[in-house]
Amino acid sequence: MERDTIELLKDLVAIDSQNPSLVPGAAGESTIAGYVADWAEAAGLAAEIVEATPGRPSVLVRSGGRSARSLLLCGHLDTVGTGEMEDPLTPVVDGDRLYGRGAYDMKAGLAAALIACREAARSRLEVIVAAVADEEHSSLGVQEILRHVWANAAIVTEPTELTVATAHRGFVWTEFSVTGVAAHGSRPHLGVDAIMKTGPILTGLADLNERLRGRVHPRLGQGFVHASIIGGGREESTIPDRCALTIERRTLPGETVDDAERDIAELLDRCRAADPALRVSSRTTLAREPFEVADDEAIVQAVARSATAATGRPAELAGASYWADAAFIAAAGIPTVLFGPDGDGAHAAVEWVSIPGTVACARALTAAAADFCAGLSSR
Ligand SMILES: [Zn+2]
Repeated sequence: MERDTIELLKDLVAIDSQNPSLVPGAAGESTIAGYVADWAEAAGLAAEIVEATPGRPSVLVRSGGRSARSLLLCGHLDTVGTGEMEDPLTPVVDGDRLYGRGAYDMKAGLAAALIACREAARSRLEVIVAAVADEEHSSLGVQEILRHVWANAAIVTEPTELTVATAHRGFVWTEFSVTGVAAHGSRPHLGVDAIMKTGPILTGLADLNERLRGRVHPRLGQGFVHASIIGGGREESTIPDRCALTIERRTLPGETVDDAERDIAELLDRCRAADPALRVSSRTTLAREPFEVADDEAIVQAVARSATAATGRPAELAGASYWADAAFIAAAGIPTVLFGPDGDGAHAAVEWVSIPGTVACARALTAAAADFCAGLSSR
């Protein structure tokens, strides 16, 4: 298992699968999806490519077994851009580490899931791997595969440092448009400075961020809000007639998009009360739900037992700092948990995954499938 997992991981890292929605003209998932389907068929598994969006395929790999329960393992095929990386598509092994774009986020978790599916086929357990497109942008892949599969539980194999991640935050992106009046800089009485008018909104957001400290999730900590993009103005000598501001709110389980929108509406009401001449509009451009699963769900317990056995130390239940496709799978009514290897450098210039961690992940997923699918776990 050890050699097969790492050989598969190297092959996956060597295939360019940068997300074309992030990097214009990038390769996308076509080549890597074809590779995964070929690998699966060579391993005696059934592979089906789904591609509702041309050029953005996902792959469903099925063990072909029939067991008391079915288990979905989900990992994404795409990576972010390679940016300033040196030789990003050459997998380099140095000691216990394997370097390359996507090694950690998340081709190691995907390789481990595929190996676990192959092992499940040998034990006639019903395991499905969803190797999905576009997690790094709009999650086209997971939304598409959920129209084709259902399972009794799911494990998203994003990197969790071998912890059993039972929660992650959601996010809400909001765009503000502040309107002013352009005028010559020497005649400010004829203009309204849209950039200056944005100042109180930014101050209000800083206050909101402070207030969010008041609510703490035991595994995620606090929610927060930060400014992401700001733009406006034409040239030095002109009063700016427009300022556009984009922010991101990271929400905790229990906080809804409506809650986030209400906080923004109240913030703008206060700004307008203080400055009746303020002209501002806001809109939500993208929102994703937070995710949380109960500790006593059978899949959580099965993964915890399996992780303990595979790593030789008691499994830790934790929260994941990032958003993941788990939210979509859980929203489809499938109890879901995150579990994947350790490493570092997701989206960064140097990315690596632990080789022993990847092998431990493959062993833990294999054991979790045996535990869960055979119906040994109980709530
Ligand atoms: Zn990822």
